[in-house]
Amino acid sequence: MSLSQATASLAGSPVAGTRLAALQQEVSRGGTALRFTESALEADYQRDRASGCAAQARGGLLLSTLLTLIFQLLDHFALGMHYPPQATQLLLVVLSPLFLVAWFAMRWQPCKPWTVQINIAALVLAGLAFAWITPHMVITADRPPYASESLLLYVAVIYFLSGAMFHAATSIALAMSLVFIVSVALSPVDTQVVGYSSFFLVAINLVCAIGRYMLDKTYRRNFLTRMIAVELGERDALTGIYNRRVFEERLEMLLRQALREKASLTVLVLDIDHFKRINDHGGHALGDRALRTLAQALQDIARRPLDSIARLGGDEFAALWMGLPSVEIEGRIADLNRQFAERSASVAALLGEPVTLSIGVAHAASTQGCDVESLLRAADEALYRAKASGRARGEIVNLPSAV
Ligand code: GH3
Ligand code: MG
Repeated sequence: MSLSQATASLAGSPVAGTRLAALQQEVSRGGTALRFTESALEADYQRDRASGCAAQARGGLLLSTLLTLIFQLLDHFALGMHYPPQATQLLLVVLSPLFLVAWFAMRWQPCKPWTVQINIAALVLAGLAFAWITPHMVITADRPPYASESLLLYVAVIYFLSGAMFHAATSIALAMSLVFIVSVALSPVDTQVVGYSSFFLVAINLVCAIGRYMLDKTYRRNFLTRMIAVELGERDALTGIYNRRVFEERLEMLLRQALREKASLTVLVLDIDHFKRINDHGGHALGDRALRTLAQALQDIARRPLDSIARLGGDEFAALWMGLPSVEIEGRIADLNRQFAERSASVAALLGEPVTLSIGVAHAASTQGCDVESLLRAADEALYRAKASGRARGEIVNLPSAV
């Protein structure tokens, strides 16, 4: 099954409004704007790119420094006494330390977008400075009219090795080119030189911008594909909610967080009563509908960002609530039963009897001494008691006394 088929199979499941749905929407938008609509997704992408391009941007920085030095040396020997001392000062006093800072920042914090920004800032300053100085050097030395070669290389570096993405790279490189064109136009050189230089700068900007655009679009597409694959691996294919593995990971994480924040943790394990009857009466399709319905009801009452729900397997589901006072648990369970009764009304009508839930709850006012196994075991045992005492009910156990 392809990724798009897999995500399409989850359409209409409770994942609508979740990250997977957001990823799906971005894929269908086509990515031509080179910006994700959801700001959280865009921020994730920027972080991903920052870590992905840190090594490349560091290499680009070294290459730019090297090229700058070589050009300086060549000019120094070619121009001799006409070589402007400001160019050396600029290189030694401003640009080299700036490049060094940027290089170390990217080594020190390779995954942070701001280190790439420093790199870009360094390259911008260097580029603008050279764009302004180069034409004057040409005039000073009365050289043949090769004014923009070093800048052409610089433009390519900005587009492909600086870590800047399409919009930033295009703005920087165009600004640099514009400064150069203005500078060369203001200097008393032959208009032919201005024309040639401008033409080559515009042409290389065009070629590089197209290349950068296509590259960014591919990066974004690959990022979405990767994220969708991760999401699909974490979700139950029928209902779209998290699977057991992710639930246990989240439980482990929230146990630690609840301990730090001295918050309570409530684990629910729930199971549809006489689910086999639904399958026997209406076939697997009706059974599947009931399972989706329960996932939706659980999603309805998961109100806070850290609330988690999952399908553990078969007709068994689980929910996780952090910081819920024990006095509110019964109210939440009543809410859940109400939502489920409303959503499963059509299944109940076909079946000729209401579809009910048995619920086991383990509530830890303090999670000191609790672990994943002990909490799940306590909730499982409470569920077993709810089944044994007649079904369609919830059993609550308070921890850690019962662990
Ligand atoms: P109880 O009240 O004791 O829970 O009885 P029950 O009939 O619900 O029994 P049980 O929970 O053991 O039933 C699980 C059934 O769920 C058995 C299996 O055929 C069915 N099942 C498991 N996965 C799926 C699924 O993805 N879709 C459907 N339609 N049925 C499933
Ligand atoms: Mg059951």
